[in-house]
Amino acid sequence: MPSPPRTHLNPERTSKHILNAQVSIRAPCCRAWFDCAQCHAEQRPDHRLRRTTEMTMLCKKCRKAFRKDLSDPEQWEESDEFCPWCDNKYVLEAKIPQAVIGVEGEDLRKDNRMIKDERMRQPARTDLDDAPRPPQMELTPEELAELEELAG
Ligand SMILES: [Zn+2]
Ligand SMILES: [Zn+2]
Ligand SMILES: [Zn+2]
Repeated sequence: MPSPPRTHLNPERTSKHILNAQVSIRAPCCRAWFDCAQCHAEQRPDHRLRRTTEMTMLCKKCRKAFRKDLSDPEQWEESDEFCPWCDNKYVLEAKIPQAVIGVEGEDLRKDNRMIKDERMRQPARTDLDDAPRPPQMELTPEELAELEELAG
């Protein structure tokens, strides 16, 4: 069992749902960084994850942020599955702890992509479960400033 990847930004908040999460995603509702929609549901039980057509993500490998526009799924290309800064592929087959899946004999390697995940079909629906595949976007200066603050 590989140990979960760590992030400097939120070491205590590494997703226990997706062990190999390559990016953190910023919630549009509370502006908190989280690794998956389920993490948001657990960390912020007071509200639902707000839907958005623009997702801000932070690459865990190079710790740089980028943005994805979800409004036009037609524009998603294979290159969009990679971090625009370091080419780290962040759309992966999610490594999910056995206990969370709870279905014996299920092939964990089947299409369990990070933003289109089996577990997302559970009641706590969020904007990540059926998110269309977005094209790449630049960060606004405000967001960059915010991230520099975060990174310390
Ligand atoms: Zn999680
Ligand atoms: Zn929130
Ligand atoms: Zn990167």
